[in-house]
Amino acid sequence: MPKVGAHVSAAGNLSLSLDRAWELGAQCTQIFISPPQQWAKVNHSDQIIEEYRRKTESTKISPNFIHAVYLINLASPNPELVRKSIDWLIYSQKLAEKLGMKGTIFHLGSFKNSTEEKALKQVIEAIKEILGSSGQVNLILENSAGAGNLIGDSFREIGEIVRRVNDSRVKVCLDTQHAFASGIDVKSQEGLNKTLQEFDREVGLKNLIAIHANDSKTEFNSKRDRHENIGEGFIGLEGFRNIINHPILKDIPFILEVPGEGSGPDTNNILRLKNLIH
Ligand SMILES: [Zn+2]
Repeated sequence: MPKVGAHVSAAGNLSLSLDRAWELGAQCTQIFISPPQQWAKVNHSDQIIEEYRRKTESTKISPNFIHAVYLINLASPNPELVRKSIDWLIYSQKLAEKLGMKGTIFHLGSFKNSTEEKALKQVIEAIKEILGSSGQVNLILENSAGAGNLIGDSFREIGEIVRRVNDSRVKVCLDTQHAFASGIDVKSQEGLNKTLQEFDREVGLKNLIAIHANDSKTEFNSKRDRHENIGEGFIGLEGFRNIINHPILKDIPFILEVPGEGSGPDTNNILRLKNLIH
């Protein structure tokens, strides 16, 4: 049975994220380790790290993931931005290792007025550099919603990166809203079967490490990144019933990034998803 977890706040102290998850009934988490709109690298003390590790053991809440800051762009034609992105991801990977977390989930970014092939090459080099300075934790690419010149809105692009980097630490997180908005059918049973077959062919199912379970505020193929509460969007309860009961996804952690009542994933959304499991 898949675990159902959520993006939770780590404000105040990293281990508070596990208390918050416990209260919500979340079985696994995703957190920010620093303010997501800034490049800051918050220094978490050894004591806080130790406390987090202890609480992971006592609550059994796992796996746990870091979500990178929103500014990351490995595909940018601006070298300064790429440098900052690489350095931040190395910082995050080192902390993930110390905390006993799975790794960092991030968006590849946008190549703006550059070309796709140039951007892909640059992204691959950047990922290799990050892996060269991180331990055993996973570096996790998330599929994007496909607006503008974003890298990573198709399984073909993600697969090409995974193959060319060729390192087993590189994994993929599939966001249901981003897929749906990119014109990838995750909603109907038949569409989902085809989608997972294509994922396997292009990326490899062994590389799928997490699902971001988000309903969609916008229509299929809208190319817009707008998350909605489970069952209140265009994917709907039937869509999530298909997704969460798919045999291929039975061991994959599901992580909610939904708006809730305005302050993020809540017990209602977690229960809605858990209740769909047969
Ligand atoms: Zn996501």
